[in-house]
Amino acid sequence: MRNEQQVAGNWAWKLWQFEETQVRYRENPAPGQASFRYRPGTRPVLISAPHGALHWRQNQWKGEDEYTAALAHVLAEQTGAHALYTVRRIRPDPNFEDDSDYKRTLARLLREQGIELVLDLHGARRRRDFGLELGTMSGTTCPDYQATIIQYLEWQGFVRDHSRSLDRLWVNCLFKGGSRQRTVTRFVWEQCGINAAQIEINAHLRVVRRKSDAVLYREDPDFAADPSRLRRTVQALIRIVRAV
Ligand SMILES: [Zn+2]
Repeated sequence: MRNEQQVAGNWAWKLWQFEETQVRYRENPAPGQASFRYRPGTRPVLISAPHGALHWRQNQWKGEDEYTAALAHVLAEQTGAHALYTVRRIRPDPNFEDDSDYKRTLARLLREQGIELVLDLHGARRRRDFGLELGTMSGTTCPDYQATIIQYLEWQGFVRDHSRSLDRLWVNCLFKGGSRQRTVTRFVWEQCGINAAQIEINAHLRVVRRKSDAVLYREDPDFAADPSRLRRTVQALIRIVRAV
């Protein structure tokens, strides 16, 4: 039987390989290409990662949510979910404005593919006081699946009120999935009538190895996630997708 390090290493390797070869945080897409990609699936779940690269919000480029594009891709590969993720810098920020090709593509896919749940993945800085945060606009955007999502995260040791901050699960505390903001989560629920949840993932649970084009590279080039928590995060997300 493979030990934990090997299993964690396997996920880490898949994620790193994708992020390293497919994602360019600071580059524009090639002429005629979009900043994002769609990976077709067979299950009624779509994993979204709109901040996989730099995104233009309020007149400036905001830093990428490292490894969220890789997570969306690898989760889709493992589960048969659909995935939509940003691999080149994107303008405007799909998680801030509704007039966006990303959201238009998303709405079309939701209609055409019979999607029942959208998981919108984001990255939180390493010093945040939680491992994962679930945002459903205070419990409104994911009525059919919120309890299931929490259950699978808790089964992997991400628990509300946990004393260790990286094992702590927050639910609608800081990143609520859109209090005023035109988020993906809000859009999917309000405009498309489909369950959606925003999942903020601490850097310690997702950044396998920092790429040299990352915004945070100069500040912290040697940063690397905790392999055990990375594995638990991936496994919780896989189980959530398979439960739908
Ligand atoms: Zn984000």
